[in-house]
Amino acid sequence: MGLVVQKYGGSSVADAEGIKRVAKRIVDTKKDGHQVVVVVSAMGDTTDELIDLAEQVSPIPAGREFDMLLTAGERISMALLAMAIKNLGHEAQSFTGSQAGVITDSVHNKARIIDVTPGRIRTALDEGNIAIVAGFQGVSQDKKDITTLGRGGSDTTAVALAAALDAEVCEIYTDVDGVFTADPRVVKKAKKIDWISFEDMLELAASGSKVLLHRCVEYARRYNIPIHVRSSFSGLQGTWVSNEPQGAQKVEQAIISGVAHDTSEAKITVVGVPDKPGEAAAIFRAVADAEINIDMIVQNVSAASTGLTDISFTLPKAEGRKAIDELEKAKSAIGFDSLRYDDQIGKISLVGAGMKTNPGVTADFFKALSDAGVNIELISTSEIRISVVTRADDVNEAVRAVHTAFGLDSDSDEAVVYGGTGR
Ligand code: ASP
Ligand code: MG
Repeated sequence: MGLVVQKYGGSSVADAEGIKRVAKRIVDTKKDGHQVVVVVSAMGDTTDELIDLAEQVSPIPAGREFDMLLTAGERISMALLAMAIKNLGHEAQSFTGSQAGVITDSVHNKARIIDVTPGRIRTALDEGNIAIVAGFQGVSQDKKDITTLGRGGSDTTAVALAAALDAEVCEIYTDVDGVFTADPRVVKKAKKIDWISFEDMLELAASGSKVLLHRCVEYARRYNIPIHVRSSFSGLQGTWVSNEPQGAQKVEQAIISGVAHDTSEAKITVVGVPDKPGEAAAIFRAVADAEINIDMIVQNVSAASTGLTDISFTLPKAEGRKAIDELEKAKSAIGFDSLRYDDQIGKISLVGAGMKTNPGVTADFFKALSDAGVNIELISTSEIRISVVTRADDVNEAVRAVHTAFGLDSDSDEAVVYGGTGR
């Protein structure tokens, strides 16, 4: 039996009871004959509470200190979990990200893992320990400062360790039974997916599905580490994410994997842009120089009489202010009229590799939205995804309508959400 990496999210270890329940599950895995490495998140809403605290003492906390603060959350849970395991009569040792060899670049609050050197973890395992690692953190290669990987980064820690330790599987334990055909908090009839390809999972994650982070799936695909997303509250098989289904996951690839939605973005419209070469380049250079990632872009047909056009794009709401400031600064150089900012938008995406070979998916998607009375503001597509922007108020209704129209509704049990405040 091989090495298993298990990751437990904040809602699975929200209190002492949760920690004891998780400890028992870890010990059971060890008893099955596996070597076990556990990556753990901060308890419950600890990270949010620490962020609130930081903002109370300083409106813009310094990145280095902010990371130092946030990593404390995972240190608490890792130590408690190791204690709980020892209490069950098994050996366990906890390690910070730095001790576990998670080396990152030095971009505070959203560092990227550049290397993993898990020497101490190997030694701990060889000595018969269960190794517990604090998720979401590392140490920067050059300055040796403590860094964090961005919200939800523990999943990435788990996959990175699984790759470095050549694990059989990376199990991600969460508060739902797996990856669903839509967010079970919105669509009660969402179905659990038994197996999904890395490709489709990447698109779902990029489109706002919160079960797995995009970066984590990207990492898993690069190193070909199968991920098993499952609940720490039930004993059920969850969702396998891998290149190809194996053994018990033998299922046919669905045409449509699921519907994702995202209400974390805003839309900026640059009004009155001269319709000549170089304008779009100048606009997006200004935004890119501020390290802002944009999502969808639409340029309208220019009005022949004025020679002016409008360009709209979407970006994370959190970056909205900064983008507006940067564009205002470049206004006279670029030569547009004005900016419009709209944060009452939502995005709905339909994802599935099967749409490559099934004509009519797009038409059915738009029909479902129009039947639900939902107006479409922007459209973008990839080979295996169609996304639209609508009013934020319409999103939940639109997701349910599309889910039903594509026959994704389950006819049995309602999806269960075991924990978490969704905060
Ligand atoms: N505790 C961190 C967060 O809440 C990391 C994680 O949970 O993965 O974002
Ligand atoms: Mg968390």
